[in-house]
Amino acid sequence: MPLEAQTLFIDGAWTSAASAAALDVRSPTDGETFTAISRGDSADIERAVDAARRALQGAWATMAGFERGRIMTNLSNLILANAEEIAQIEARDTGKPITQARTDIRATARYFEFYAGAADKILGDVLPFLDGYQVTVQREPRGVCGLIIPWNYPASMFGRTVAPALATGNTVVLKPAEDASMSCIRLAALAHEAGLPAGVLNLVTGLGEEAGAALSQHPDVDFLSFTGSPEVGTLIQTAAARNHVPCVLELGGKSPQIVFDDADFEHAAQTIIGVITQNAGQTCSAGSRVLIQRSAYDRFIAMLKERMSAVRVGAPAADLQCGPVINSTQAKKVQGFLDRARADGIEVIAQGALDGSAVKTGYFVLPTLFGPVPTTHELAQEEVFGPVLAAIPFEDEAEAIRIANGTAYGLVAGLWTENGARQMRVAKKLRVGQVFINNYGAGGGIELPFGGVKRSGHGREKGLEALKEYTVAKTIVLRHD
Ligand code: ADP
Repeated sequence: MPLEAQTLFIDGAWTSAASAAALDVRSPTDGETFTAISRGDSADIERAVDAARRALQGAWATMAGFERGRIMTNLSNLILANAEEIAQIEARDTGKPITQARTDIRATARYFEFYAGAADKILGDVLPFLDGYQVTVQREPRGVCGLIIPWNYPASMFGRTVAPALATGNTVVLKPAEDASMSCIRLAALAHEAGLPAGVLNLVTGLGEEAGAALSQHPDVDFLSFTGSPEVGTLIQTAAARNHVPCVLELGGKSPQIVFDDADFEHAAQTIIGVITQNAGQTCSAGSRVLIQRSAYDRFIAMLKERMSAVRVGAPAADLQCGPVINSTQAKKVQGFLDRARADGIEVIAQGALDGSAVKTGYFVLPTLFGPVPTTHELAQEEVFGPVLAAIPFEDEAEAIRIANGTAYGLVAGLWTENGARQMRVAKKLRVGQVFINNYGAGGGIELPFGGVKRSGHGREKGLEALKEYTVAKTIVLRHD
């Protein structure tokens, strides 16, 4: 393992920032500093990109797909063998309840398992063309991939980005979020132990505006993947445009849960409250608006109220449904939404409560259900990234679709109805990247393509679809007559 503040992994070795600067890491659970990470900047990004570029010419370039797959299988097995340790690291660093951290680590291992199996199945095409010609299209690695990930699911985001990049033969420079780098540091150490050649995976911890900006702007990076806020997404896409490289952006959402009056209310209520309080609501795909058919509004609200009131918030070790949010800025941001909604006269229907394990210095906010929320209000339009649910009534299918599509975002939608024709009719009219009908599970589903439209971003991660993003098609036209 790297020493504290020697958390840059470059060319197969742990090192500190060239500037020797470090950043304190605080626990969201009590606000205390518990470790430090290296504050990498443009000089370190330079070294990392250089190592990744050189690794593209080395053993990695000639390694067969199945050999890459074997290293990734090793890594998946190492993650499982060390799962409890990594889950504890993740829970301490992010504040998430330990059960949720364990789930994330299993997902991380699954990413490497899934893409290990794909590494020797990156298929090309043979195209019909003119007589006397043979046309093949083969998929080649992009090259050096710059991966910038957020703090909400650091380990599983490591899997979601690094695994498909490696399966397709790329090399990587990963910039984890400054608020939650610890599990990524451990995973990079395991990747090395699994047999990944030096320089194939490089990790630079540090600030977004320093290390992140330098990585996104580096002219020798061939591809960018970014998950985070729309504002930073714009910066990433601008940097990509300047360097003429492609990027995949996943930028969050304001995802609707649409509940018709014929739904299985029990199942819907349990899932909807579970999803918005999971990870303290800090999930891109959180269903943060619940659209309820007016004929069932009172009945369904009563069910949501009962469940939201029962949610308890506390320390990761107490293993409740909800932990703290990531930092004081985020806690203030969420509290600001709660205060403004109250000041605007929107009724608080229900709130969860603090458990005894929630100490005052931790970044705890109360899960809250508001309603009815006017569709133009910020609670119905903006991503809170906290455990806050906005209830909105609708009359009929047409109005449900209009409200569902009526934000700048388009990531996920949940649809709750037993009417089969309506399920497909509505699903087709929703402007989102994925629709869940009578379930809601974007967090898992390693096999399922995932991404957004509109302000939620573009490109697809997860599943076999991601392999297309991490490769580029080369068309070879051979005349043989
Ligand atoms: P959030 O608002 O959820 O913290 P951000 O978009 O700020 O999300 O952060 C997501 C990731 O982007 C983090 O790894 C962060 O360090 C990085 N980041 C933040 N600002 C920049 C930037 N200007 N350029 C590149 N990366 C950045």
